[in-house]
Amino acid sequence: MSDASLNSDLVRQSAATLATAIARGEVSSEQVTQAHLDRIAEVDGQVNAFLFVDPEASLARAREVDAQISSGIIASPLAGVPIALKDLLATRGVPTTCGSKILEGWIPPYNATIVERLESAGVVSLGKTNMDEFAMGSSTENSGYGPTHNPWDLERIPGGSGGGSAAAIASFEAPLAIGTDTGGSIRQPAAVTGTVGVKPTYGGVSRYGIVALASSLDQAGPCARSVMDTALLHSIIAGHDPRDSTSINAPVPDVIAAAKSGDVRGMRIGVIKQLQGEGFQSGVISQFNAALEILAGLGAEIVEVSCEHFQYALGAYYLILPSEASSNLARFDGMRFGIRVGDDGQHSVEQVMSATREAGFGAEVKRRIMLGTYALSSGYYDAYYGQAQKIRTLITRDFEAAFAQVDVLVSPTAPTTAFKLGAKVNDPLAMYLNDIATIPVNLAGNCAMSLPAGLAPEDGLPVGFQIIAPAMADDRLYKVGSALEAALVDKWGGLLIDEVPSL
Ligand code: GLN
Repeated sequence: MSDASLNSDLVRQSAATLATAIARGEVSSEQVTQAHLDRIAEVDGQVNAFLFVDPEASLARAREVDAQISSGIIASPLAGVPIALKDLLATRGVPTTCGSKILEGWIPPYNATIVERLESAGVVSLGKTNMDEFAMGSSTENSGYGPTHNPWDLERIPGGSGGGSAAAIASFEAPLAIGTDTGGSIRQPAAVTGTVGVKPTYGGVSRYGIVALASSLDQAGPCARSVMDTALLHSIIAGHDPRDSTSINAPVPDVIAAAKSGDVRGMRIGVIKQLQGEGFQSGVISQFNAALEILAGLGAEIVEVSCEHFQYALGAYYLILPSEASSNLARFDGMRFGIRVGDDGQHSVEQVMSATREAGFGAEVKRRIMLGTYALSSGYYDAYYGQAQKIRTLITRDFEAAFAQVDVLVSPTAPTTAFKLGAKVNDPLAMYLNDIATIPVNLAGNCAMSLPAGLAPEDGLPVGFQIIAPAMADDRLYKVGSALEAALVDKWGGLLIDEVPSL
């Protein structure tokens, strides 16, 4: 086989297949890493999924891992497999921008816990992926470094904020990626790129070393092209971390066993009444319903469940998130991280801070800092932030009541398929409406998966199917997800992503 065809074969393999081949010595991590670096060099000019790639460093690490695997030092289910990291994970010695100009040139002195766990498991970093600035957005158009393009149609958005991670996987530049999901930033990009993404239970994966957006909502998770690959990655990054005070000190649910079982017989699946009607594209609904029929055919019982307070979720989220963000982003003042503007000896510290923030932050970040500062100001605190927290409690109770009746809940992940770049940039409210189905999960702190349900007939673009489970029942996501995926693979003769136009 020529180098070129060997490479194109390698980038199309699942992470599980690659790991097995590497473990058996059939291919080296260096070869697999090289194949993905070649693919990045070939297509990323069109996709713009990566903000930083250091081919020499990745290859050097791959060679190290090859040596460790052959001497038996590393044995993990993903040893030697490459990964793309969202650019808000602190990576020692490697630039970390959060998609913002304010952090241009910042090089963290330490690694996020996730990065450390990946390193000990022998997973090789390919680089850092593009994102909406500080993870605020649904299209990656708020990046300070230009938008990412959706491999299904380069004129369309890849979702956000983790559009870079999702597009990297969908364009075969990486078999795996890490995303973060504060309001849907793993699941909505997965939905619109025909890939799989999981927001684990809040506290299930360490937040140490993840640049904070809204600390009570943020959660990192796995992105991949199949449910099993997502499970393998989940099992490596999850688990208690004493360096994160909200990390749950309990055993991680066995997501790999669940992904292998794929049996939904006798499971009760609740369809959320509030997340299907108005505002949802017809092809999204039709593919969602077709997937439900498949699950019913596999022996699950499908019932409708009402979650009355979900209609207020978006409003509550867009008060809680800006409030927490306005406080978290106060640390970017030009003194400690990234750029500093106007420090010429003629201006006061306050003037330098203000000039730095004015120059370094984009419009959406400024909008949310202002919104949050307003919502937290004395005299308005109870009316806005306090009220939003009460709604948060009511949404959590809706979930509790629903999970008393069913094992998992389901809905479309996003109301539409990928829209055109530029279509919603000037209409923040229209942009926020993308998050209508994903946000309740972050507010309640439980877990959810998005996986492909098919292509919408009217535009031929991927539709995401969302599965939601109670906190610390992440294994149920994988059980239902793998059952649905297996049935769809039978129907389509492969994964949906195999249909993506080649770039
Ligand atoms: N669309 C959501 C927002 O803009 C996504 C946030 C996230 O999950 N990081 O707030």
